[in-house]
Amino acid sequence: MREIPDRFAGKRAIVTGASRGIGRAVAERMAAEGARVGLIARGRSDLEDVASVIRGRGGECLVLPADCAIETEVEAAIDTAAATWGGLDVVVSNAGIEPADLDARAHELAASAWELVIATNLSGQFFASKHGLRHLVAGDGGSLVCIGSHCGSLGICINETAYSASKGGVLGMMRVMAADYARSGIRVNMVIPGVIDTPMNGYLKADPELFRHVTEPILAGRLGTPDEVAAGVLWLASDDASYCIGTALVIDGGVAAV
Ligand code: NDP
Repeated sequence: MREIPDRFAGKRAIVTGASRGIGRAVAERMAAEGARVGLIARGRSDLEDVASVIRGRGGECLVLPADCAIETEVEAAIDTAAATWGGLDVVVSNAGIEPADLDARAHELAASAWELVIATNLSGQFFASKHGLRHLVAGDGGSLVCIGSHCGSLGICINETAYSASKGGVLGMMRVMAADYARSGIRVNMVIPGVIDTPMNGYLKADPELFRHVTEPILAGRLGTPDEVAAGVLWLASDDASYCIGTALVIDGGVAAV
């Protein structure tokens, strides 16, 4: 049997969007590698499910329901984890939405849909980063990993103006945070997942035509798994990636290779 590494033994981590998909895989893997993990998302009962899995395997975590789009909620959740454990070492800013039914081409996009996506994906990652970094700065440094998307740098997400803008914003924010905090012993990096088999992509599976269009360029010939993305997130967050600063690690089954 493969031995589980303990790269996060003694580390204190926050994962936003920890109740499903990529965030859940990150939280479970990080806990399995020894981290105490603060689990943030809006839905308490989904977070409790993740917590029971982690605790059932002997891990330690806190259930911290919060809406990442509301600064005071994220701040309180992150402060609770830091107060409980005496600081933080790792922050994974992952929570996001992709409301394909609301997003649209620019001239058809309602301001309310734009504001919802920007508030959740861009302001939400800013708030989690801001309050996470506050604790990393106050401690011995650490690592922040943001989750981006090809939509943030390539015009491939047709009809998704707000989502693409939000992820482009995260890329720019990640790069400047990497520069601003590197000399404080804090590494800021990003993972750019391709098309991953999570609840977020339920709408793709419901539309065979769209599914074919989106999956055709995937050289791997299949969707990625949350665990394949989590492997990259953990690597960037760990000391194994000690020379990575401002890196945008693409995990996309080859989409961007062609
Ligand atoms: P899922 O929809 O599977 O999970 C999203 C997670 O974010 C859930 O835990 C959800 O919990 C949480 N969340 C959503 N809105 C908020 C909010 N306002 N406050 C707090 N938590 C919130 O998504 P994925 O796992 O697929 O996506 C994770 C990240 O990866 C996102 O940033 C996404 O943009 C990015 N990504 C995903 C890709 C994919 O193909 N799946 C591709 C590229 C990037 P709750 O609803 O209870 O709050």
